[in-house]
Amino acid sequence: MKCEELLQILNEYVDGTVDPGLCKEFEQHLAGCNPCQVVVDNIRKTITLYKNGEPFELPVEFRQRLHAALRERWKQIHPESGPRA
Ligand SMILES: [Zn+2]
Repeated sequence: MKCEELLQILNEYVDGTVDPGLCKEFEQHLAGCNPCQVVVDNIRKTITLYKNGEPFELPVEFRQRLHAALRERWKQIHPESGPRA
């Protein structure tokens, strides 16, 4: 899996709906890719905050902002090959 592929399934991973096979690849990539670790770590922390408050459901607006922020961050990390949107 490449960084851009990881980013593409990040939504599903966050929702917990990612395919188990993909999930494994996701975690394998994550284990060896520090920039992706940082991104996923931030998401996990954010989700934990939400989870502590109420049933786990991210507001749509929040998710959109999160994804936009992630893309921006990702572009900074990988300036040459942006994710296919
Ligand atoms: Zn990566």
